[in-house]
Amino acid sequence: MSTVVLDKVTKIYPGGFLAVDRLSLQAGEGELLVLLGPSGCGKSTLLRMIAGLEEITSGDLYLNGEYANHLAPRDRDVAMVFQNGALYPHRTVRGNLAFPLEIAKADPGHVKERVVELARGLHIDEMLDRKPGTLSGGQRQRVAMGRAIVRQPSLFLMDEPLSNLDAGMRTELRMEIAALVRALGVTTIYVTHDQVEALSLADRIAILNRGVLQDVGTPTQVYNDPATAFVASFLNSQQLNLLEALVRTPQNQFVLLDFGTHRLTMPWNDPRAYAVSQHVGRTVLVGIRPDALVPLPPHADQGQYFAGRVRTLEYHGHEWLAYLEAGLPAVPVPEPPDQRIHGNGNGNGSGSRAKALLRRLLMGRSEE
Ligand code: ATP
Repeated sequence: MSTVVLDKVTKIYPGGFLAVDRLSLQAGEGELLVLLGPSGCGKSTLLRMIAGLEEITSGDLYLNGEYANHLAPRDRDVAMVFQNGALYPHRTVRGNLAFPLEIAKADPGHVKERVVELARGLHIDEMLDRKPGTLSGGQRQRVAMGRAIVRQPSLFLMDEPLSNLDAGMRTELRMEIAALVRALGVTTIYVTHDQVEALSLADRIAILNRGVLQDVGTPTQVYNDPATAFVASFLNSQQLNLLEALVRTPQNQFVLLDFGTHRLTMPWNDPRAYAVSQHVGRTVLVGIRPDALVPLPPHADQGQYFAGRVRTLEYHGHEWLAYLEAGLPAVPVPEPPDQRIHGNGNGNGSGSRAKALLRRLLMGRSEE
């Protein structure tokens, strides 16, 4: 098992493009660390520097405690899995799985046994004599995974291995990957731009934007206590409401978030009130998840709420999302839009009025 330490690692591509900016990060022994971020944020560049396929411009890389900036890729004991599997097309599945062992001059009897055992574990034992061209995308990725683990490296690097697969296959293989790498106990760094994949797979997630590390922590830490507005937005599959509010403490008994047209109070016993109170007199950005809001009947008078016209209704399969006027949050509504939200259900909610009771704030939880 390997540990990975990146210390202020920077990558500037020829031509001057800064792809990774003084990034410091560690992966512990046996850890499944997910690198998450939008397209072009530098995830693959970082992975390729760890693999030795890309030169590090400045900063230090340590693999298993050893300074590794200039170590040749073959001396890093790393196996990589790419998006497209990259199998040898003229070799059978058996030949592809056996290849890394043959290169390492392993005993042929051991190779045979190991390949069959691995194929069974990956549910590809019935395809051992087929060529990659005759396999589905999911089956090819299983073979690619098998070829990566057959030699039992001390570090797996996976670059969006599921992104070419359909949703069902992605979920299935995702669970298998998690089970596999945990059973093997091999340190794994896994790159994805899919937040659901990251949250469901990772021991810890490192979130990147424009080459800069934004946050790192367990899935629940980064989801519930994001370090930046970017992290909060990126980790939400629903569009996150980000609203500006002025922080006040009118009677020293509670914290008031003044959104201009609407006001919300947070009692002092709310664990987040203290953090918010550090910004009294200043304008802060408040993140409210749509699913933290519930719609109320028009003219309801139940504590604190946002009230506003519905601009548009959007169908999301399991629910509808009502977008209110500018400066107000989006609210999920039950299907079909009922008497609480008066919209005609096809994207035109004009003239309707919605009240949404704020139950929880992402950055200032407040149970009414
Ligand atoms: P994606 O999810 O789209 O694969 P990524 O987060 O993996 O994106 P990288 O492939 O690491 O991003 O690229 C980071 C940035 O570096 C991008 O803006 C890319 O255009 C740039 N880049 C990558 N390779 C090179 C190169 N060889 N020369 C110049 N710029 C490059």
